[in-house]
Amino acid sequence: MADLKLIQGDITTFKGDAIVNAANTGLVGGGGVDGAIHRAAGPELNIACRKLHGCPTGDAKVTPGFNLPVRLIIHTPGPIWRDGSFEEPKLLRSCYENSLKRAVENHCQTVAFPSISTGIYGYPLDKACKIAVSTIRKFDAPLQVTMVAFDQKTYDAFNKAMAN
Ligand code: ADP
Repeated sequence: MADLKLIQGDITTFKGDAIVNAANTGLVGGGGVDGAIHRAAGPELNIACRKLHGCPTGDAKVTPGFNLPVRLIIHTPGPIWRDGSFEEPKLLRSCYENSLKRAVENHCQTVAFPSISTGIYGYPLDKACKIAVSTIRKFDAPLQVTMVAFDQKTYDAFNKAMAN
């Protein structure tokens, strides 16, 4: 079982083996946490991402961390929330699962996640937190996972989901 802890802060300052990026399917860099990661990692990240030729929603692909204090960045495009009947829960679960698989394949022990899909992509926060927490806790590998909540609302929602 993966170990899970929660902090509030900026994921670009996380020191460990890997961070996960809530990317888009083009892996072209965007707003939110994606923009922050691209700015902090530097322009080489964009060049490396272009070579990956995109990533389907729910899958995950890896680049080096470049100027970030991590070895790897795991890019996973989350689902855009419509009304919940377009496989959004299954796709969000896949994001966490595939990111954790990439972490293990690349010999990571410490990995940090942002709250995938709950920003610009509009996934309801409480629903997303439950999926994130259960998927990470169920994942059978000796990983230390840190959820990095950027704002208080996200921190509180994860805190609640982790208490259950
Ligand atoms: P998505 O498009 O998957 O919804 P966003 O980047 O819009 O992705 O939002 C995902 C979450 O990441 C939101 O909770 C947002 O507040 C948070 N976020 C934004 N910047 C950062 C950052 N530097 N570190 C950690 N989380 C961040």
